[in-house]
Amino acid sequence: MQKKRMTKTQERAERLTRALRDAGVRITRQRTALLNVLAEADDHPDAVELHRRSEEQVPGISLSTVYRTLSALEDQGVIQRHQFEGDAARFEHAETEHHDHMIDVDTGKVIEFCSDRIERLQAEIAAEMGYEIVHHRMELYVRKKGRDGSVSADGFREDGAQD
Ligand SMILES: [Zn+2]
Repeated sequence: MQKKRMTKTQERAERLTRALRDAGVRITRQRTALLNVLAEADDHPDAVELHRRSEEQVPGISLSTVYRTLSALEDQGVIQRHQFEGDAARFEHAETEHHDHMIDVDTGKVIEFCSDRIERLQAEIAAEMGYEIVHHRMELYVRKKGRDGSVSADGFREDGAQD
């Protein structure tokens, strides 16, 4: 039988499973479903939404188990928690390339973007003050312009579905 190449989602799921095992957490069918949901998600779901999606696949996971599992995964560094203003914490798998977030204040939609100009400018500003950047997070709270308005200016890409 020909060995199929693992998809990105499968690789992520494997990585999450290993991390959870390393954390000493028992891998149940319910937790496997949650890990698969996390591996598939590119839309920064919160815990309640992750719970809902897991339940669809394999019922029987409690919300508190979801929270505990997410904490364990975060401790292992394989998922990132985002605490956007006025919103429950949202999660994404951590192996994505660096990007920043825009949060649509009307819909709650999270849009990922990366701008070389902003990255450069931040580094310059820090350097001018005698620092180098170790890590940064930037969040822009946005509202969609009129229908034909140009929210996606030069240098920004809407790549929430990037794989
Ligand atoms: Zn993101």
